[in-house]
Formats: sequence, structure tokens, C-alpha cells
Amino acid sequence: MSELYDVVIIGGGPAGLSAAQYAARAKLKTIVLDKSQSAGALAFASLIENYPGICQAMTGKELLDIFRKQAIDFGAEYVEAQVIGVSLEGETKQVVTMDKTYEGKTIIIATGSMGRKPTIKGEADFLGRGVSYCAVCDAAFFKGKSVCVLGDSEETAKEAAYLSKFAETVYLISPSKKLKVDDDYPALKIPNLKVILGSTVISIEGDEIVERIRLKDAEGSERVIELSGVFVYLHGSRPVIDFLQGAVEVSEDECVSTNRMMETNIPGVFSAGDVTCTEVRQVVVAAAHGCIAALSAEKHIFNRKRRRYDWHG
Ligand SMILES: Cc1cc2nc3c(=O)[nH]c(=O)nc-3n(C[C@H](O)[C@H](O)[C@H](O)COP(=O)(O)OP(=O)(O)OC[C@H]3O[C@@H](n4cnc5c(N)ncnc54)[C@H](O)[C@@H]3O)c2cc1C
Repeated sequence: MSELYDVVIIGGGPAGLSAAQYAARAKLKTIVLDKSQSAGALAFASLIENYPGICQAMTGKELLDIFRKQAIDFGAEYVEAQVIGVSLEGETKQVVTMDKTYEGKTIIIATGSMGRKPTIKGEADFLGRGVSYCAVCDAAFFKGKSVCVLGDSEETAKEAAYLSKFAETVYLISPSKKLKVDDDYPALKIPNLKVILGSTVISIEGDEIVERIRLKDAEGSERVIELSGVFVYLHGSRPVIDFLQGAVEVSEDECVSTNRMMETNIPGVFSAGDVTCTEVRQVVVAAAHGCIAALSAEKHIFNRKRRRYDWHG
């Protein structure tokens, strides 16, 4: 039987990590499941100088490292794993990753809003038939085949490296002329990984399944690459809720619906940060949401009438 956590937090951005800090400090058994340290909005921010209490300007990643360290120092566990499904009915909730299913008395959804709407011609049509947003979920289907990964972030490079263990050839295709990783980033040295910079995929084509992509470079020249899989890591601003598959109520804009105490429509399930489509998307707001969600989770677990605010003494 798997361990039962008091709080399972999905997402390791400022919302999730602030929730982890408050939950762990309240002596709740807490785990954060985070797809990647470089995939959330804060990880993309090149300079943060408006987070209260931090006078020195720093990159989003540096601030995120501080959030993570503080949560872990208070006793929270942190695991890099992508959540691919949930089961939220009943008193014990399940959170599914590729390697393991985690069980929690409460769940906090804090996956941000860096998801995207399909925009490339063919992207929506071939979703699940060659187009994927999850390398860990689907890489094994492409053993010995050619695939491409679209994006320019560190996450894109990491996912391309993961796919290179399965696929015969992985094309890492970036619309920008420079990837957001150093030139000596280890993934870029993998022999079956080919980097194509400054090119945009204009269509994904095939009959029943993906068979090829059409690329356009900055000069407007087009070329076709025959392949079977297209993994899209281009980011947008859509709430990341795909793994919920309707398990909690979402708004018309696909934001997780909560009340002001960050409670969703499912008892024991809370949400925080950009995934709730807070009108002000700032680190300080996400962190505040995380705090409220953790206090609400603590109240739920102990069936309290009121929230507790501090655990000193
Ligand atoms: C370029 C840029 C600059 C910005 N500059 C500022 C600024 O100067 N000041 C400011 O206050 N705010 C700034 N923001 C906004 C701020 O970064 C966000 O409001 C904040 O990061 C939201 O926090 P979050 O925890 O809700 O989401 P995120 O920071 O997006 O974190 C979400 C986390 O969830 C994880 N995740 C996603 N899907 C899954 C899954 N299926 N399983 C497990 N984990 C998952 C991701 O890996 C990520 O770690 C900026 C945002 C951007 C994009």
C-alpha cells in the first residue's frame, strides 16, 4: 500500500511551494509533485524585483530555488514528476504519475497557466495520434521512430533528451535562433538529437496518424521532415488542467473554480495560483493563494471550525 500524505501538492511554482511551506510547518505530511523546475511561469521570468521582502533583484529560477529550499527545510518532500491523472472522489484522493500513484487526505492543485491552445495546423486533429504534450507518457510509443520536440526552453531540451532514449531520431525545433540553455548543455550533445533553430512548424500532416511536418525558416524557405511524433513544448497562457479530466469544476475559461479560501467544489481539494485565473498574476498573489490553500487543507484534515494561523509554541 502506498504512503498516505496529509497534503499532495501538484505543481512546484510559488503557489505550490508556498502551500508546501505552510503545510509542512503545520506538521502535515506534505509532498510536492512538480513536472519540472524549469516549466512554470516563474522559471521563465528573467528578472524579479517586486517580490516583497527580497530587495535584491534575481532571476525567477533563483527565487524559485529559495521557495523550494524553504519548503523542504520545513519538511516537505519534493519530487520531480508529471501528474497525468487524478481520482478525487472519496476521502483518500489519488494522484497518478508515470512511476507511482500518490495518496493524499487533501490535494492542492497549483499547476499554473502556461498551457497552450493548439495553434499549429493539424495540432488539434492529430492530438493522441502522434501529437503529444507529455514525453514521459508517450515516449515508449515511438521506439525506433523519428519524432520532433518543439520549443526553446530548458524543459524542451530535457524532454528531447528523454525521447532520444526511445526514438531513432529526435529533432529539437526552435522558433528562436538561440535555445534558453547554454551551448554546452549535455542534452545537445546526444548523437541522435538534431537541433534546428529559427524554424517554425507550419503544419502537421498525415492520413490517420502523423506522417510528416512542414517547416518554414526565417527566410521563408519550406521543408518537409518525415516523422511519427510531434511533442509540443511551446507555451501559452491556458490553465494547466488536462490531467484533471473533469474531476473538479472549472470556469468557462478553464480555470479551476475556487472560493476565496481556495476550496474547489470537491471537499478536500484546493487550488492556488495562476491555474485559478486570478486577475492579478504575480508571484506574491500565487504565494498568498498557496498559504490560504494550505491553511484550508489543515482545517479540513482536523475538521476544525476555524483555520489556525501559526504553529509556534
Ligand atoms: C516571463 C514572465 C515574467 C514574469 N514576471 C513577473 C514579475 O516580475 N513579478 C511577478 O510577481 N510575477 C511575474 N510573473 C508572473 C508569475 O511568474 C506567475 O504569476 C507565478 O509564477 C504563478 O505561480 P504558480 O505557482 O501559480 O504557477 P507557475 O509558476 O506557472 O508554476 C506551476 C508549476 O506547476 C508545474 N506543473 C505543471 N503541470 C504539471 C503537472 N501535470 N504535474 C506536475 N507539475 C506540473 C510546473 O512545472 C510549474 O513548476 C511573470 C511571468 C512570466 C511568464
